[in-house]
Amino acid sequence: MSNIQSVLSENRVFPVNPEFTKQANIKSEQEYQQMVADASNNYSGYWANLARQYIDWKAPFSKSLNDSNPPFYTWFEDGKLNVSYNCLDRHVANNPHKTAIIFESDAGHIETVTYKELLTKVSRFANGLKSLGIVKGDRVIIYMPNSIEAIVAMQACARIGAIHSVVFGGFSAKAIHERIHDAQAKLVITSDAQKRGGKIFPLNQDVKEALSLPGCESVEKVVIHRRTGEKVEWDNKRDIWWHDVIKNQSDECEPEWVEAEHPLFILYTSGSTGTPKGVQHASGGYLLGAITTMKWVFDIKDDDIYWSTADVGWITGHTYLCYGPLAVGATQIVFEGIPTFPAADRFWRMIETHKVTIFYTAPTAIRALIKLGGDLPNNFDLSSLRLLGSVGEPINPEAWMWYYETIGKSKCPIVDTWWQTETGSHILAPIPGITALTPGSCTRSIPGIFVDIVDEAGNLVTDNNGGYLVIKKPFPSQIRTIWNNPERFIKAYYPEDIANGKYYVAGDSASRDTMGYYHILGRIDDVLNVSGHRLGTMEIESALVAHPGVAEAAVVGRPHDIKGESIVAFVVCKGQLPTGSEKDFLINELREWVAKEIGALAKPDEIRFGENLPKTRSGKIMRRLLRSLAKGEAITQDISTLENPHILDQLK
Ligand code: ATP
Ligand code: MG
Repeated sequence: MSNIQSVLSENRVFPVNPEFTKQANIKSEQEYQQMVADASNNYSGYWANLARQYIDWKAPFSKSLNDSNPPFYTWFEDGKLNVSYNCLDRHVANNPHKTAIIFESDAGHIETVTYKELLTKVSRFANGLKSLGIVKGDRVIIYMPNSIEAIVAMQACARIGAIHSVVFGGFSAKAIHERIHDAQAKLVITSDAQKRGGKIFPLNQDVKEALSLPGCESVEKVVIHRRTGEKVEWDNKRDIWWHDVIKNQSDECEPEWVEAEHPLFILYTSGSTGTPKGVQHASGGYLLGAITTMKWVFDIKDDDIYWSTADVGWITGHTYLCYGPLAVGATQIVFEGIPTFPAADRFWRMIETHKVTIFYTAPTAIRALIKLGGDLPNNFDLSSLRLLGSVGEPINPEAWMWYYETIGKSKCPIVDTWWQTETGSHILAPIPGITALTPGSCTRSIPGIFVDIVDEAGNLVTDNNGGYLVIKKPFPSQIRTIWNNPERFIKAYYPEDIANGKYYVAGDSASRDTMGYYHILGRIDDVLNVSGHRLGTMEIESALVAHPGVAEAAVVGRPHDIKGESIVAFVVCKGQLPTGSEKDFLINELREWVAKEIGALAKPDEIRFGENLPKTRSGKIMRRLLRSLAKGEAITQDISTLENPHILDQLK
């Protein structure tokens, strides 16, 4: 099979801001190169040094990487630590009254907790969990809104060595059931309900429904946090209030010192591409990835006000909300609500109010906010910002430009971070102040991570051509296995048919330009095959989004007798849904537009308009559903993670 072709060229380069460089944690290109060189010369030693420098160990490790049983790699395996100790106690010792979390509720209520207060909350709840019989290794499902309590619950599990599995609060009873069953969870922690966008969602009711299905017999207790005061249908045998769990518990809880490889959590991936997989992470290596990237990519400093808009239900809400910011002792915002409530200026208002310095969000939010009011940010003082980040999907160059100019006022570097639930922490991302930026590129790898692009045979794919994105060496924060399913782990990430199973295969296609910068082209499963050319989805979509009338686009292939596949584009316009002659005109114009931006080869054969695209609850476009729609097939696939099922009818 031929390589994937990269067809969109991006020539804009934004040099580093010297003011930023002066204060950056990684000070120069030489320093970055030295780190890369150190890692190539002594890979295991490089990570061991960092692990000794950044993590407080109860028992030191003597071994760094153990690669004797590939692909089941381990790191620092004879060391002992506790992740919650590293996130809380060590900061309380130095600076107990520093603010850890500034929580803003959906309705705009603000609550602040210091590191000392957070440690007390975590310790009391951890003691409460112990009183319920939860011990090291037990699995605990957490189904809660973004909140201080969700973080307390996760940290409390980490404190006693229980393995949490957070389920996003927007998932259905069916999704909770699947995860409880797969993880054989002993406890569920939830809230009576959650508030998002002014609406109330009865979380506890979903849990009840999940537990009524067969296969949840492992669950002994359900802890319910009172959040909204909604009436709860009480089960005397099973249910217990959060406030009763912590009543009379001591403010101190000696951490459970666990082996570095002890599982910290299981997180099921969002399912953009199929049935969710229970991604299992280890305590030591995962924590190291979170800390190093907080320092290098987010350039975190003591006086930053850091805000990641991610939900605790996603990996970003684990690494860059619950664990990373706390492990480095930062002050962060935790937001319960959504970007469009009460109005589409919520993010910008909150940045002004809290004087946010580092802001991390997803392209889907950026595109939605451009559509709803590209000028709104100008009404706010965003001058506190010094760094912006993007994660979750490729960011289309035009959305990047808007983010850079309108939000960052052309002075804040954007760190476009490519990584996955499975990688635990950032893999490709600019180092701010060091790496010049190109819209739509996540630039280079984190120092110490070795990434490449290969074809099926494992041969390097040369400049500007697309291929499989692989990570060539095992790294500390990577997935250890799929929970209870080592065969699926090997098949999914070290498949025999790509480079003989030698490398971690990310499942995304990418190209590398002549500057050595990576461009994600899309998911391997989404690659189009048009007249013998293999094209990623990203570039055609970005060309469409570059049209002034287009807010969002997704393209998929439909089988075609002659060409192999024809291109079908689904487009969301910035204004009204086009109809009649306006629609015909726009279809023509967009086809010509793509031909001009990329080439006639990439011209969509069909264009359909909708008010939105089918998205996962984490905001990612579900192209597999669009493929069925393009073919005119009925949807028979799993749509439990689909946010907006009604949109499918519109796009038929
Ligand atoms: P599933 O694996 O169940 O289909 P998912 O891949 O959407 O779900 P995540 O682990 O949250 O779940 O997302 C990782 C994927 O998101 C990457 O493989 C990539 O496709 C995409 N992604 C994340 N960040 C970026 C980025 N900065 N640029 C391009 N793509 C990104
Ligand atoms: Mg994935």
